Amino acid sequence: MDEILTMKNVSLIYHTPKTEITAIENVSFTLSRGEFVSLIGPSGCGKSSILSIVAGLLRPSGGEVFLRGEKVKKPSASVGYMFQRDELFPWRTIERNAMLPLEVSGKKENGNKTRVNDLLLKYGLDDFRRRYPSELSGGMRQRAALIRTLAPDPELLLLDEPFSALDYQTRLNVCDDVYRIIKSEGKTAILVTHDISEAISVSDRILVLSSRPSVVLHEHVLDTDKSVSPLKRRENPDFSKWFERIWGELNHA
Ligand code: ADP
Ligand code: MG
Repeated sequence: MDEILTMKNVSLIYHTPKTEITAIENVSFTLSRGEFVSLIGPSGCGKSSILSIVAGLLRPSGGEVFLRGEKVKKPSASVGYMFQRDELFPWRTIERNAMLPLEVSGKKENGNKTRVNDLLLKYGLDDFRRRYPSELSGGMRQRAALIRTLAPDPELLLLDEPFSALDYQTRLNVCDDVYRIIKSEGKTAILVTHDISEAISVSDRILVLSSRPSVVLHEHVLDTDKSVSPLKRRENPDFSKWFERIWGELNHA
């Protein structure tokens, strides 16, 4: 297997002026190229902290993280991070928002600019280049945010509850949309969610985390056909079986 990420016995303690909070107890997992893996667990169990560690934004208190065999010590362009809120700058056009990571990292070479332009075109935002985020629907804004995340051409995408601010119907559509773009760009992804159905509909594999401090309680390999969209997968007869199983596990997490 072509391994991208290795988390080995990772732990994390937050030190506050009054106390210490052990957020992550002992988390180990690996991720192979092209995989879509979801982390699911109770609120406050340490999911966002795990992503911050993978992104090199937080140093683990114990254990090690390797990206392509190299120890993660700081943020790198090979990891892209997408949040619940789209974080687009309201005063920049969609195009200038999408180009932002290239500006910040000084990688505004023509090749990169062309790629971002191609992404905008390919994923239906060509007519909205000169518009401002407030002129777009929530779903379109998330798509623009994804394109911005893809601008530096990261290999691994970290998605932290990227759909949870959207209403239910938009959420299903945007999830389909984001899945399609990630697959067609050949990226590897970790999705953090507390929505069981969402996790089952997009994942090749689901890791169920315990409540804080988190450990991986269960790992499920879903026998998914990657060419089937998340929305269509919800119609799979096995869907409710997986839902009940993970529901039960979370209730004992
Ligand atoms: P999740 O994303 O699963 O909801 P987080 O990773 O955000 O969980 O947080 C895990 C735990 O660590 C929570 O209990 C939270 O209160 C605590 N925590 C998160 N960030 C900090 C911080 N900067 N300082 C102290 N405690 C924190
Ligand atoms: Mg979180």
